[in-house]
Amino acid sequence: MTKKREKTLAAWDKQYVWHPFTQMKDWLAEEPLIIERGEGCFLIDTEGRRYIDGVSSLWVLVHGHGRQELLRALEEQSKKLCHSTLLGLANPPSILLARRLAQIAPAGLAKVFYSDNGSTSVEIALKMAYQYWQQHGLKERRRFLTFRNAYHGDTLGSVSVGGIDLFHKVYGPLLFKTYKAPSPYCYRCPLRLKPEDCGLGCVEIFETMVKQHRDELCAVILEPSVQGAAGMIVQPPGFVAAVRRIAKEQGVLFIADEVATGFGRTGAMFACLAEGVSPDFLCVAKGITGGYLPLAATLTTEAVFEGFLAEFEEFRTFFHGHTYTGNPLACAVALANLDLFDSEGLIRKVGKRAAALGAMLERFEELSHVGDVRQRGLMAGIELVKEKRTKRPFGPAECVGQRVIMEARRRGVVIRPLGDVIVLMPPLAIEEETLATLVDVVYESIRRVTEA
Ligand code: PLP
Repeated sequence: MTKKREKTLAAWDKQYVWHPFTQMKDWLAEEPLIIERGEGCFLIDTEGRRYIDGVSSLWVLVHGHGRQELLRALEEQSKKLCHSTLLGLANPPSILLARRLAQIAPAGLAKVFYSDNGSTSVEIALKMAYQYWQQHGLKERRRFLTFRNAYHGDTLGSVSVGGIDLFHKVYGPLLFKTYKAPSPYCYRCPLRLKPEDCGLGCVEIFETMVKQHRDELCAVILEPSVQGAAGMIVQPPGFVAAVRRIAKEQGVLFIADEVATGFGRTGAMFACLAEGVSPDFLCVAKGITGGYLPLAATLTTEAVFEGFLAEFEEFRTFFHGHTYTGNPLACAVALANLDLFDSEGLIRKVGKRAAALGAMLERFEELSHVGDVRQRGLMAGIELVKEKRTKRPFGPAECVGQRVIMEARRRGVVIRPLGDVIVLMPPLAIEEETLATLVDVVYESIRRVTEA
């Protein structure tokens, strides 16, 4: 691309585009990085510079950019049908994908409701759970129990069940009320317990809350295994299974939001599977198309589905649907994505790469401003602190996380922090050598910024 064209694009970006989760005052003061191409695990900017895609283009990329198998599936489907509605019609890719999802999901999830992003997949689960109880004669079951530090998306329903004050507080007056159980954030345990002998004290509190409110609860919602957006907060082993068991014992529905953890990120196809958990709802998006097209799905059980079957005039229909629900292009790519999981034995490879990543992350503990290193599968978070002994955080004005990622960018790595947690979420198919470079750059960037 010519210098002139590049400058024009940068100017038009500033003139016309409002970027998500971005303080635009800062954005307008800087030169934007404009990504023109992707190749495997690399992003390439308009000047031809290459960067490792260290957060999988916001946690979506599975097999890398430009995989021919996925592009072929897209092209072949595009010659047949690019879109047709699921409101009153069906199409082959959405049928085949629903069947495939039901086969790979935890047992009992038999029905698939499509949408096009993670927030809507959660919104759908919330509305279904609510309507299910309304139609079940238990009209007082209107509340949800969620966890502090939860993130389930940006629509008002999904924000209502969220628990990150920085993102959610300002919308408080617009949200519905939820009960919030303690977050299993072991590094900063809200109960001031030590993980070695805490006996999952947070689960005990959760259980008490569910028992206390069971008659008003529609559902419990959890990001199983890792609270991602809160800073890769990894749950202790047994946590997901315990939450599921308690919800079941108390007759409350359980929603597993696997928008981030689904499709192999944590080392299992779905994080629930690693703890033998079958939820009543499974929300998936992000990796479902390998990161090529927007698509999401909410899976649920026959029992929930049957609660909506009735004569039309009883109005038990699930009155919800998006224009692009079940888009055939996205579904065709999702099918090709799942084929690649199988043909490449990817889940097994993720286990190996995750072990390699774990070993590479060990030396970060030596750095004087690394408070905690958390990892599950190919999801990792490095929490930076001002003072290691007291775990005192850096002040927000110090912008330490942001400074680290800018340093990494100069060294050929694109990552995005969550506050002062440096996130590593490489494509599942990353080569070990590229993974090692990514980790080295991040190490050096943290060292440069925090120890200078
Ligand atoms: N749920 C979880 C657990 C997520 O991590 C996210 C996004 O990061 C969402 C929901 C929202 O997904 P989307 O950004 O596609 O709306």
